[in-house]
Amino acid sequence: MTTTLKQALKTHFGFDNFRSKLQEDVVKAVLKGDRDVFVCMPTGAGKSLCYQLPAVLAEGITLVISPLIALIQDQVDRLQSLNIPACSINSKLPAGERSLILADLRSSSPKLKMLYITPEMVASPSFQPCLTDLCSRGLLSYLAVDEAHCVSQWGHDFRPDYLKLGKLRGRFPGVPCLALTATAPKNVKEDIIQSLTLRSPLSFVTPVFRSNLHYDVIFRELLPNPYAHLYAFIQKALALDSSSDRQGCGIVYCRTRDGCETVAHQLTKHGVLSKPYHAGLRTGDRTETQNEWMQGKVLVIVATISFGMGVDKANVRFVAHWNFAKSLASYYQESGRAGRDGLPSSCRTYYSPRDKEQLNFLIRKEVARKQKKRGSAKDVDKSAITDFDAMVSYCVQEACRHETISKFFGDKTPNCVGACDYCRDPKAVRAQLEKASALSTK
Ligand code: ADP
Ligand code: MG
Ligand code: ZN
Repeated sequence: MTTTLKQALKTHFGFDNFRSKLQEDVVKAVLKGDRDVFVCMPTGAGKSLCYQLPAVLAEGITLVISPLIALIQDQVDRLQSLNIPACSINSKLPAGERSLILADLRSSSPKLKMLYITPEMVASPSFQPCLTDLCSRGLLSYLAVDEAHCVSQWGHDFRPDYLKLGKLRGRFPGVPCLALTATAPKNVKEDIIQSLTLRSPLSFVTPVFRSNLHYDVIFRELLPNPYAHLYAFIQKALALDSSSDRQGCGIVYCRTRDGCETVAHQLTKHGVLSKPYHAGLRTGDRTETQNEWMQGKVLVIVATISFGMGVDKANVRFVAHWNFAKSLASYYQESGRAGRDGLPSSCRTYYSPRDKEQLNFLIRKEVARKQKKRGSAKDVDKSAITDFDAMVSYCVQEACRHETISKFFGDKTPNCVGACDYCRDPKAVRAQLEKASALSTK
């Protein structure tokens, strides 16, 4: 089976091997088709193939739900360029093309292998009979829900339309369902399973722990010259002073636009070409900066968190948070953009109690505003505070940073072996905390 599966991978997608054992295991489980499947793998890990290869090998049609037309178009273009019959029905599709697709779906042996739709389309009355008809003829192979975290109100980009998918799923109980996401803390995963009514799904989850990422926390207020400190960190992470050609690039995250401008300016002054990236810049300038960074012409991008979604660059050697993240889940995701190539990389947070107070204030204000609007406190709102508190604890705890992150996601304690500042030198971590507390009582 394995050799034929690999042959199919090569024939249809041109890949010699699976990206990972996990990817191969998922494909096999999906092909077996007797269970629902839950997949959580980081961006760039190749989740699409987990349903695309089974879809190609299946008799009928796979329905893929994805939240954005742009994402769908990307996938459909790629599949079509591989000569795999895939298309999308969406609100932007001309009526003529739409009827062609529907005609194919009604035919006795449809040519289509994959049909991409947005969750809005799922509810469209014109489309429902078509699905029912396919299913009754046994031609619905799989239901794949991409970016499945959108179904959860705990998730960072909740889409109300995703809630309709539960109903859809309910109408085709015999069709195996596959849910895929890059981010699923425990509560989000539970939401996905419940909303899509996955029946004791097989779960394939990349372990949270990534041993090539080195985490540490620096108290910014204790530094005589914070910018010089950041520069020294970058110099080391990018091996700027060595002649090695292993040069990579990095990301510095700041909370405000002004912060981005200042840090980028300071770093450039210190000697590493850095550019700001934030919503206050013209779209053209932002795109140019991103391209220059992708091509390695600009080594450091200093950005607000608007940067990074969907960016897949292998040789990011460091991610530094000049202001710390609003939750531990966001921090894991943002810092996780480092080291996708598996090589050692650094993730540093510059912690500041003043930052903390500001952010704390903003988050609580936002929660209070939402409560007033709705007249009651929802658990969801409280989770913003809990997740923020988790981020603060991460910074001020005397504990392995990897362990804190893994436990937050409900994973087992990893074997850090020196991949964080605490495991490497717990005394230094304590000394820093003591210095900070002495400073705050002064
Ligand atoms: P995800 O959805 O997990 O973020 P994608 O499915 O978009 O990831 O895949 C990321 C990239 O990896 C794509 O360019 C895809 O073509 C590539 N890819 C997927 N599987 C393999 C494989 N087995 N071998 C090589 N490249 C692969
Ligand atoms: Mg994807
Ligand atoms: Zn550790």
